[in-house]
Amino acid sequence: LLWVARMLGANAVFDAAVIGGGPAGATAATDLARRGYRVLLLDRAGRIKPCGGAIPPKLIEEFEIPESLLVARVRGARMVSPTSKCVDMPIEGGYVGMVDREHFDEWLRERARLSGCVRVAGTFTGLTYDSAGLATVEFSPAGVGRVCAGAPRIGAVADCIPADLAAAREGVERVSARVVIGADGAQSSVARLCLPNVPKPPHVAAYHQILRSPQQHSAYDPSRCDVFYQGDLSPDFYAWIFPHGETLSIGVGSAHKGFSLRRAVTRLRAQSGFDQLEIVRGEGAPIPLKPMRRWDDGRAVVLAGDAAGVVAPASGEGIYYAMAGGRYAADAADTFLQTGDATALRAARRNFMQAHGRVFFILGVMQRFWYSSDKRRERFVSICRDPDVQRLTWEAYMHKRLVRSRPLAHARIFFKDLLHLFGMART
Ligand SMILES: Cc1cc2nc3c(=O)[nH]c(=O)nc-3n(C[C@H](O)[C@H](O)[C@H](O)COP(=O)(O)OP(=O)(O)OC[C@H]3O[C@@H](n4cnc5c(N)ncnc54)[C@H](O)[C@@H]3O)c2cc1C
Repeated sequence: LLWVARMLGANAVFDAAVIGGGPAGATAATDLARRGYRVLLLDRAGRIKPCGGAIPPKLIEEFEIPESLLVARVRGARMVSPTSKCVDMPIEGGYVGMVDREHFDEWLRERARLSGCVRVAGTFTGLTYDSAGLATVEFSPAGVGRVCAGAPRIGAVADCIPADLAAAREGVERVSARVVIGADGAQSSVARLCLPNVPKPPHVAAYHQILRSPQQHSAYDPSRCDVFYQGDLSPDFYAWIFPHGETLSIGVGSAHKGFSLRRAVTRLRAQSGFDQLEIVRGEGAPIPLKPMRRWDDGRAVVLAGDAAGVVAPASGEGIYYAMAGGRYAADAADTFLQTGDATALRAARRNFMQAHGRVFFILGVMQRFWYSSDKRRERFVSICRDPDVQRLTWEAYMHKRLVRSRPLAHARIFFKDLLHLFGMART
């Protein structure tokens, strides 16, 4: 502690300052610390990220997540159509892991600290450059100033409130850093301050409630994720019930401004027979659905995760992509620290898009087309009955690869998709 105090007190110079200790920031900080860099990990304390918490096996393996962090294992998904037709999609020989973000994120931050990071609780408030190009990061240590809404506002998108940034400047601390990774989530202050001319990505607003799981309930299977494609629950995205062991997450997402997410969750609770279950908490947050055009400021800042807009369209899956993005940002920062060449920071976005851009594009088209009306949603759910579609969907989600070894299956799906598209297949 004394060492941290000394580092902070004397306007410390870090190799890297990582702003935000969610999956993206904690991964980037761990990677850089393991390479021997002096890293500051700054995270606003005291808020649990609203999240369904579903993670694929690829994430568990690639980012060395211990099984003890899994609160449930999901063996299949049930897709529910506008006319309440159900299609079950079992996972063959595997499972989707479910995590509680309260414990998952804290574990990731602690891993970063144990890897050698200086971990500080506080709120980022500003960034300036000195004449030598060194960045000065300003932050308000936890307990001083208030930038974030303490209690999440039900049904609203509650994250960082920009207007309060100035108010938090009282009692600021300063550290210098050669490179800064902005991983401060969907309403990134780093992006807003350092890349003001890059348009913000479009997003859906999401809201969920954590309910106490029922002991026994005909509509609830603790090893199944239910996904509802019904216009009254979400006119342009979907609603879900995800099991979390002792609790469950029941939520909806939509980009429609006037649509009440909170009322939709109440409706889903009632239609599932869950209206008597205890509500542990309710919380909302935006889900960005398109990678930003640019992730670096050309000097010393690079973005990662939700801050850079990287959540998969159609599915809203962001944890894996945040961690992958954090890793690409750390790699780019490493090259920059070694060469001093700021163009090296562009590699974070380039490499991410090379690995995942195609999947994001396909999912974006899918979301725009299939989620646009109940008629199309009905067809979409019916397509999911196809064993080829099920196998390839799970392969792509679980292992983050498009299966090239089965071109015939892809061709079959392509033609079936076309038939559905033109309404020539039965639903
Ligand atoms: C309701 C909902 C359900 C979801 N369900 C799933 C799911 O089931 N599976 C899935 O893969 N994805 C899901 N997502 C998406 C996923 O949660 C995000 O994509 C993921 O958390 C992004 O990680 P991140 O590290 O980029 O950002 P975040 O997880 O948002 O982390 C950002 C961190 O930065 C900190 N921070 C913010 N501002 C500041 C500041 N000014 N100063 C210091 N620190 C700051 C925050 O405290 C936080 O710790 C869901 C999202 C929502 C909203």
